[in-house]
Amino acid sequence: MAKFDSDWIPQAAMTIFAHPDDMEFSCGATLAKWAQAGCEITVVLCTSGNVGTHDVKFTPYSLAALREEEQKNACDVLGIKHIEFLRHDDCRLVPDLMLRRELVQLIRQHKPEVVFCGDPNLVFWGPNRINHPDHRAAAFAALDAIFPCASMELLWPAEGAAHEVHGVYVRAFEQLDTWIDVGDTIELKIKALREHHCQLDDYKDLEGTIRQRAIDAGKEKGMAFAENFRVVRLKE
Ligand SMILES: [Zn+2]
Repeated sequence: MAKFDSDWIPQAAMTIFAHPDDMEFSCGATLAKWAQAGCEITVVLCTSGNVGTHDVKFTPYSLAALREEEQKNACDVLGIKHIEFLRHDDCRLVPDLMLRRELVQLIRQHKPEVVFCGDPNLVFWGPNRINHPDHRAAAFAALDAIFPCASMELLWPAEGAAHEVHGVYVRAFEQLDTWIDVGDTIELKIKALREHHCQLDDYKDLEGTIRQRAIDAGKEKGMAFAENFRVVRLKE
């Protein structure tokens, strides 16, 4: 099958998102499916979500420690072994050269064929939500690190040999072009999200919401459950 087809599974993939649980919401069922097929997956978290609560019994330190533990448990559910915590501060992530260089180093080290990230242009979300600024920052940083920086030999040679990423799977809401059938792993996605207790224990009908999104995504492609992406095909 051709690269980037619905059923194609790369040998190595990476996710670059801002917070614990972003990856699961965006592409958790696809990752579980790919992990089962033997894809080596590296999860990069730019922050550990160290201010992501309204519960003042936490400190930024205790919250980050808890959320990293929850992230490890969620990755266990999905069959993902490698997590990289960059530990930038939550709500203060900026796509600067330091972050770009850290991501270039990780891309060169892990050599993913595919990287998943968010949509940096997503500012408004439905009628009543603003997208988190860290989500946009992480997405810009990821795209800038992937292209062209990780592939340029003369740039930051100390960070490893240049590596070309073949495709970027963007969790976008428009210009979607790739649907992954996740009928066998949608329940693992829900189970992984359930490991993020401090964020999601109060989420009303998480299971129903996640299932319905996957049903809606799969509808036009005849899939019972799907995750869909805008795939940037850098190297066919
Ligand atoms: Zn987030």
